[in-house]
Amino acid sequence: MALWCPECVRPFVERMLSRVLGDITLEQFVDLLLPGGLSTLVQRRRASLIVSRVRMVAALFALLTPLWIVIDVYVFPWPMWGHLALLRVVATAAFLGLVVGFGNTETIGVALRALTLLLVIPTVFFVIANPILATFAAEVGDTGRAVAMGYAFLPFVMVAGLSVFPVTATEGALLALPMVLAEGGVTALGYQVMPFASTFAALWLLILVAVVATLAGMSQLHFMTALVSQSAHDVLTRAFTRRVGEELLDLQVRHAWRQGMPLSLAFVDLDHFKTVNDVYGHEEGDATLRRAADALRRTLRRQDMLVRWGGEEFVVVMTGTDATGAATALKRLRRNGLGTRADGVEQTASIGLTERTADGIDDWQELVDKADERMYAAKQQGRDRVITVGDEALADV
Ligand code: GH3
Ligand code: MG
Ligand code: MG
Repeated sequence: MALWCPECVRPFVERMLSRVLGDITLEQFVDLLLPGGLSTLVQRRRASLIVSRVRMVAALFALLTPLWIVIDVYVFPWPMWGHLALLRVVATAAFLGLVVGFGNTETIGVALRALTLLLVIPTVFFVIANPILATFAAEVGDTGRAVAMGYAFLPFVMVAGLSVFPVTATEGALLALPMVLAEGGVTALGYQVMPFASTFAALWLLILVAVVATLAGMSQLHFMTALVSQSAHDVLTRAFTRRVGEELLDLQVRHAWRQGMPLSLAFVDLDHFKTVNDVYGHEEGDATLRRAADALRRTLRRQDMLVRWGGEEFVVVMTGTDATGAATALKRLRRNGLGTRADGVEQTASIGLTERTADGIDDWQELVDKADERMYAAKQQGRDRVITVGDEALADV
């Protein structure tokens, strides 16, 4: 046996990972490290969750930051508390700006920008507050020193706060980095008014908190991904539900329009499906549906999308595929079949095909309507056929 076999490495790594990670697959684990592989749907849901939490946290900070002025006034001498109060007012305005400035979004870039700003505000606050505290250190009493300690805790609070956001490991590390650098910088410049017993230990602790918070964020992301995937798919056929299918189709059509790319859409309606239910019962009907969905999926490419549009109706979206390419795919589907019914007869379907550029349609709803219309024409002409662009019947080869 060869000592080194690359194809053995992957199963070995997967076995080891499954020991450590439980139900998480290697692909899922990689997606938790880097955001590149996350699906459009997860990115959209993640964006709206992150932005709504940023607003919530920013609102809380906008409330708490000015309240602390009262304590500063009480324990610190003038003009020290004046400087800090001014800083707090500016920070409050910045937090309020975040609450007002970021509306609901499903764009992950915007959401991550909001989260970055949420962390930048206290980082800047921390970097400015420390020299102020250090300058007046000699005039501060015991109570003041205890309160100043609160300022030293700020980086820990902020970094720990990362745990409420569904982030990847890379994002967690990048988001925590400014706070860690600020802590290191302030310590190096000797601005810590209440230095920890060991400055190195404090920095180390901060990094540990960042790691734990990022792990919590990754765990949130994992649960979110599982939940989004579960609710996006129809339980019986594992195809996308219509609600999610419409959302993604809208995005795909707009993307194709911007890029000037073709996009084909097939409306598939199973023929005489009602008789399967009537003669063999609902269970057998369900099994037939599942077989048909599996057959459709086998014919599709990875980037194509299968949607269960209604009971026994499916919509297949083939991005980047022109009418000729789609016709080839549908011919392959017809050759492979949609599975066999309980009576031993091949399950057939009537299919209507549309293509964005050839039909000159740029609206997803119109694209579906047109395909539905052609599917209906296929039914009219005797079922078990494809009506394609130009209302032509597709010849079987
Ligand atoms: P046609 O060739 O004209 O399309 O005939 P059809 O019988 O397929 O058409 P129709 O739309 O009248 O019937 C669709 C049937 O699909 C009706 C319904 O009982 C069945 N159906 C819809 N959803 C499900 C499902 O989830 N499970 C099962 N078993 N049957 C379903
Ligand atoms: Mg139907
Ligand atoms: Mg039907």
